[in-house]
Amino acid sequence: METKICQNCNNKFVIEKEDFNFYEKIKVPPPTFCPECRNVRRLCWRNEMSLFKRKCDAPGHDEIIISFLPPEEKLVVYDSKAWWSDGWDSLSYGKKYDFSKPFFKQWKDLRDNIPLQALSNITATNSDYCNVAEASKDSYMCSASWKIEKTFYSNRITEVKDSSDLYIIYRSELCYEDVLCSDSYRLLYSLNCKSCVDSYFLYDCVGCTDCFGCSNLRNKSYCMWNQQFSRDEYLSRLAKYSLRDYKVISELKEKFRELCLQSLHRFTIQIKTVNSTGDNLESTKNCKMCFDASGKIEDVKYSHWLAIDAKDAYDSGPGVGQAELVYDVFDTGIGNFRNLFTSVVYSSNEIEYSFNCHGCSSLFGCIGLRSKKYCILNKQYTKEEYELLIPKIKEQMNEMPYKDKKGRVYKYGEFFPAELSPFAYNETVAQDYFPITKEEAEDMGYRWREKTKTEYKISIDAKDLPDSLNDIDDSITKEVIRCLHDGKCNDRCAGAYKILEDELNLYCRLGVPLPRLCFGCRHDERLKMRNPMKLWHRSCMCDKKNHFHGAEKCKTEFETSYSPDRPEIVYCEKCYQQEVY
Ligand SMILES: [Zn+2]
Ligand SMILES: [Zn+2]
Ligand SMILES: [Zn+2]
Ligand SMILES: [Zn+2]
Repeated sequence: METKICQNCNNKFVIEKEDFNFYEKIKVPPPTFCPECRNVRRLCWRNEMSLFKRKCDAPGHDEIIISFLPPEEKLVVYDSKAWWSDGWDSLSYGKKYDFSKPFFKQWKDLRDNIPLQALSNITATNSDYCNVAEASKDSYMCSASWKIEKTFYSNRITEVKDSSDLYIIYRSELCYEDVLCSDSYRLLYSLNCKSCVDSYFLYDCVGCTDCFGCSNLRNKSYCMWNQQFSRDEYLSRLAKYSLRDYKVISELKEKFRELCLQSLHRFTIQIKTVNSTGDNLESTKNCKMCFDASGKIEDVKYSHWLAIDAKDAYDSGPGVGQAELVYDVFDTGIGNFRNLFTSVVYSSNEIEYSFNCHGCSSLFGCIGLRSKKYCILNKQYTKEEYELLIPKIKEQMNEMPYKDKKGRVYKYGEFFPAELSPFAYNETVAQDYFPITKEEAEDMGYRWREKTKTEYKISIDAKDLPDSLNDIDDSITKEVIRCLHDGKCNDRCAGAYKILEDELNLYCRLGVPLPRLCFGCRHDERLKMRNPMKLWHRSCMCDKKNHFHGAEKCKTEFETSYSPDRPEIVYCEKCYQQEVY
């Protein structure tokens, strides 16, 4: 065990024996940034939902396209079709390694000259405004998603259909304004639920049907505000709520917030986990400090947004699955083995410091390669040449490290410096999970970019929209609506928004009023409903006399995502189980 000072935040952090074992296994030196700063550094390269208009640079193309790469950045950007075509040769951009220049400088030169893909998608049908959205169909403004159809304004969703305004949702249909839910149908305005149907305003409910305004329920029907009714009584009470009215929904949201506060809170959400710490975990084993991970995740540390088979991984995610022995990577998976410092790398092995490579092995510092082997900075070598060069390059990276403006040093074993990212801090998900102000960002040496004012001509104020969905007709899709926040909030307000035809159809199908906030503000409201990716050591707050701890207060200690100053009642697993099941 060793205590170190983080290069970035100057706080102490501990490298444990198991960590040293991992670093030795993958042959990297121990890190010089603390776990959180490593996470932030990686997230500074991950833009999920800031989209821009820019020109397509593919030869013969001149059209304006949607891209996650800001137009201010001097990059060569191809639309996805042109990028995936055989019309250009990624190896022709290769350069011989220059031992007189730091590695990261040479990598940036390659990055600035080679065609980049406008959006980070492989298969997207009629979903031009979706980014990092694999297998999406007829969807709009969805990101970090997989297998979605007719879904709008959502982030981190998989296998979702006919839904809108979701965040961290799995296998669901006809859902609206939900956070951290799965396997549900027609579930609205709910948080942390599983297998719920035809229900509204549920918190921590499982297997509930026809329930309204409830929390901590299991396998119930016809409950309202945690009170059991007959079917007829429930339906007649439900009919009294005008759920198509914005004012009614706003008041119910307020009441729901109160209900959540008064409910029982399990110290973290963990389902079928063994020896794991973190939050929102399902089927994990020996995972430490992991968040939002599900499906056979084993021996993983300091990682988040992982799914389906990840083993022996550190500092991984978002977007990692079917991967083994990976370190400081995101958007990397599907049969990956020993990849370090990579992003958008699929079906590949032994890849280091590379971006957007597919079906490759043994690459170092490469961009945009497909089915290649033994390349460095996109230049082809023989196996023998490659194996001779790699140790020399790593040595040179240590002798001639990259230094950023703040004096932080990047030798071999560090992720790409944030200042080389094409994104400003506030365009990336670093701002989602570690929000800071413009001043704080500049202080830390992160870039910040003010949103370019929308050129839309606002035609109606959100506050002047008819209260009820009943008074809305198709003409609303022609309006440009001023967001209630009008750009004055600290969230990523776009100032204005529109209602799409398909979106309006969904609202009518669900019977919900029109939103009054723009997409950026709505997303930020959802983010506030989740706990941070941090853990605090606390003890159980239960003093129930009928529990295993008898007359004494429960003394069970745990690592929880509820900070000590929060008002929620936080229980250990045993006390929670006794009360809720
Ligand atoms: Zn730090
Ligand atoms: Zn807004
Ligand atoms: Zn307890
Ligand atoms: Zn108890």
